[in-house]
This record gives sequence, C-alpha cells and structure tokens, in this order.
Amino acid sequence: MGKALECLICSEPLLYLEKQEKMVCSFCQRKFDSYVKCIHGHYICDTCHEAQGLKAIRETCLASSSRNPAALALQIMRNPAIYMHGPEHHTLVGAVLLASFKQAGGDIMLLQALEEMQRRGSQLPGGICGLYGCCGAAVSAGAFYSIVTNAIPLSGHVWGQGNQLTAACLMRIGQLGGPRCCKRDSLTAILTAVDFVSEHLGITMETDEQVLCPFSEKNAQCIRRKCPYYSKSVPR
Ligand SMILES: [Zn+2]
Ligand SMILES: [Zn+2]
Repeated sequence: MGKALECLICSEPLLYLEKQEKMVCSFCQRKFDSYVKCIHGHYICDTCHEAQGLKAIRETCLASSSRNPAALALQIMRNPAIYMHGPEHHTLVGAVLLASFKQAGGDIMLLQALEEMQRRGSQLPGGICGLYGCCGAAVSAGAFYSIVTNAIPLSGHVWGQGNQLTAACLMRIGQLGGPRCCKRDSLTAILTAVDFVSEHLGITMETDEQVLCPFSEKNAQCIRRKCPYYSKSVPR
C-alpha cells in the first residue's frame, strides 16, 4: 500500500482536535485558530492549502469540453495541486458541474460563474463535514445550483430547489458514513447533482456507468469495499 500523504510538510497523519488551538501556518506564518494539525504540530491554513488547487480547478474547467462532471473531477484530482483531502474540494464540485453544465447547453457565462463558485467555495472551512454535520461537497453542489438559477435568499422556487439538491447530496453522503473522504463525497455530490439538474432544469450532463476512484491507496481512512467507487485495480 502506498504511503498516505496527510501533512503537506512531513506527510505524517493529521490530528483533529475537539477545541480550536492557536496555530501558525507553516507556509504564510500567519496566526489562526484551528482544529487540525499534524502529529508533529505542522499547520497549513485553508488559503495556503488550496491556492494552487483553485488555480488548477479554474484553468482545467475553462479548457474542458467535457459534459461529464465526474470524469472532469477525477481529471482535476490527478493534478498534484489537489491534495487527497482539503477545502479545495468545496470549489471543485461546483466548478466541474458549472463547466459540464455549460458544455451540455446550460446558458451561463462560465468564467464569471467559476469565479463566483470559488468565492463561495472558499468560504467553507476545511473539516466542515464533521464539525458542522454538513459536507462542503454537498454545499458546493448547492452553490452551483444557486449560481445557474441566479438564486438569492429572496428567491422562491429555485431557493427551494437549491436547498433540496444540497439535502439530497447530504443524504447520500451521510448514508455512506465516515470517515470523511473528499473524493467519495465529491463524486457523490456530483452524481446526485447530475440527476437533479436533468430532472429540474432539463440539462443532461453525462455520467459513466461505473465511476471508479484511483485514490484509495492514498487515503489512510478509505472505507474500501463499503465505498461505491472503490476499485483495487484503477491505476493512479
Ligand atoms: Zn507535519
Ligand atoms: Zn497560510
């Protein structure tokens, strides 16, 4: 089994704390209150953790001609700037949905939509799944839906639909159970959104018959055969 890469500095496992502690980001040296550090005390703030990844997400989505958001997500996840787990997935889910929605005939300005997705996705903290009981991949799908329907807090019908999509994502993610996996949760949110958008907006994105995850060996907490995307045989 390959080494699971957790801490970006030393690759050792991360510790999740029940209460926040004062920490200094090993990259930018700014001070934060955080729930997570590695066993050697390294801490990377969300902004530093996702900076390169967000650039990779935006550029790949803008260049993509795919209507298949799960395939596009896996393509972006292979970029080394996207870590095994991390808050960049809170932008990634909505971004691949926006790009695929556009290619499938959705009427949006993609660049502006991706920028808005990044603004909203970046506001969701790392670890929100376990700390708030609300996975950021699901919220990212909801943000995608709000962006393409121009929903705001005063909207009627689309306000309801956006919340229903997030709920549907959370239901499936929750039923699979933890520990968190940003790959499993992202793929689940994306596939849920594809069905929802087809039904409610009449835009049909593509999906593969079976979506297979190539990242199991990189995830120390992979639930393996309990995961619908688990495959021993997919090379990274
Ligand atoms: Zn470390
Ligand atoms: Zn930092």
